[in-house]
Amino acid sequence: MSQQCTLCPLECGADRKKHPGACGGEDAVRIVKYGLHPYEEPCISGKNGSGTIFFGGCALRCAFCQNFEISHGQLGRRADAAALAALFAELEERGAENINLVTAAHYIPQLIQAFRLHRPKIPVVYNTHSYEKTDALQAIDPYIDIYLPDLKFYSPDISARYTGKSDYFRFAREAVRFMAQREAVFENGKMLRGCIVRHLVLPLCTNDSLRLIDWFSSLQSPAYFSLMGQYTPCGDIARFPELQRRITPREYKKVRDYLLDRGAEHVFLQQLSAADERFIPDFSSDTDTLF
Ligand code: SF4
Repeated sequence: MSQQCTLCPLECGADRKKHPGACGGEDAVRIVKYGLHPYEEPCISGKNGSGTIFFGGCALRCAFCQNFEISHGQLGRRADAAALAALFAELEERGAENINLVTAAHYIPQLIQAFRLHRPKIPVVYNTHSYEKTDALQAIDPYIDIYLPDLKFYSPDISARYTGKSDYFRFAREAVRFMAQREAVFENGKMLRGCIVRHLVLPLCTNDSLRLIDWFSSLQSPAYFSLMGQYTPCGDIARFPELQRRITPREYKKVRDYLLDRGAEHVFLQQLSAADERFIPDFSSDTDTLF
């Protein structure tokens, strides 16, 4: 890794051997939690669960992050490439349907090293906030089977309000355009390759959701679209009164109907009942169980 890290759009220039970057990432990955995740989309969780690894740190840092303690804190244990490769193998042995890398964009060089030591026989899922540089994605692309990119904000004002980054969509647009090209392949209801673009509806932000749907539709890509209604007040949101409630059925319906009216065929729709803290892993317990 270069001594001055410029991996992500922040280009903070940290020497990660000496101190963490603005993302919280050091030279070695930090693993906060891992295990079999039953609550991803059904084609991802399958029967046995998705072999999910939660990494510490994040370059985007949404104020309302449901994994706030791990994205903003310095939790987790350091792992070198050999330890990460061993973890891939452990999850395979436990019967995971896939290896699911959650918010790992700030560790792309370390992930590539681990894949060179152990290439999983099950699909590898790359789960990202999409605030990424396309050249970094191109580097890890040969090792990835399924992309799960979030598409969070269209408006620079909204992304600046909740993340401090007004350029979110400028980078996410190119990153999602790249990931969404992946053709889907299924076997017995399980996704083996493909891309599912996820969008979380936020309180008072439905018009932003509609603009994202318009943009996604204009791509005419083979990607699936997953509309999520699970927003749960979390994180550092005291400054944002509008974020202190879940979304209403009316807000969700407005976005869902707009999506379906545009003739979208490849769609996952989450039930509003998924907006529950029970579906957020407990990051204070042992590292090798999720719920
Ligand atoms: S990945 Fe982290 S260390 Fe590297 S530029 Fe981005 S914020 Fe800085």
